[in-house]
Amino acid sequence: MNSAYLFDIDGTILSVERTFMKSIIEEILNTFSIDPEIIYRIDYAGRTDASIFRNLMGEHHHDDDLFEQIKQAYINKMNDHLTPDDVNVFDGVEETVEYLCQNNEYLGLLTGNFKETARIKLRAAGLNDYFGFGAFGCHHTDRNFLPADAERSFTEHSGIKLEKRDFIIIGDTPHDIRCARYFGAKSVAVSTGHFSFAELSKQNPDLTLKSLRSPDKWLEKLSG
Ligand SMILES: [Mg+2]
Repeated sequence: MNSAYLFDIDGTILSVERTFMKSIIEEILNTFSIDPEIIYRIDYAGRTDASIFRNLMGEHHHDDDLFEQIKQAYINKMNDHLTPDDVNVFDGVEETVEYLCQNNEYLGLLTGNFKETARIKLRAAGLNDYFGFGAFGCHHTDRNFLPADAERSFTEHSGIKLEKRDFIIIGDTPHDIRCARYFGAKSVAVSTGHFSFAELSKQNPDLTLKSLRSPDKWLEKLSG
């Protein structure tokens, strides 16, 4: 029986240059007369874009029209300016997605990114076509709701219903591990993002990795 592998993007598949992200977010905040200093006061890892952008809006965080305008400005800027040079794909990612594809596994996304920017980042990395379905951070501010979205998206995409334990959530933060547990999926934590191997291990994922290299070996451990 095959499984569905749900990949986080930032810190797991790739990272986008900090200077690039900082400059486009700064420009957007300036356009909407929001003090860009707020960039330094919030936490980003493992959070959904909906939650991050509401935070960046400060006292205006309940303003849905403003949120939609800022979101669209962000999507447009990413689309117009992100190039392959701004993106760093982590070691072992291409090897893993290629290996899973060849083994006829299902590959999807479970990311806090807005759907549009998730696809823009993956296109810049040359990896977009690997991922046929997914859950994104467009609506939910809480990551724990994303696995159920991914399950629905998977069933629509494949016409198949899997057990919850046949979903494997791969991510770089404690949030990824917690959302897998909340849903009943397996979790693979990889320390290519901001959290160390030890910090991730403490959260008891099914498997902790330093990188996604040698997928044959770590997949065997996961199923063993
Ligand atoms: Mg991440």
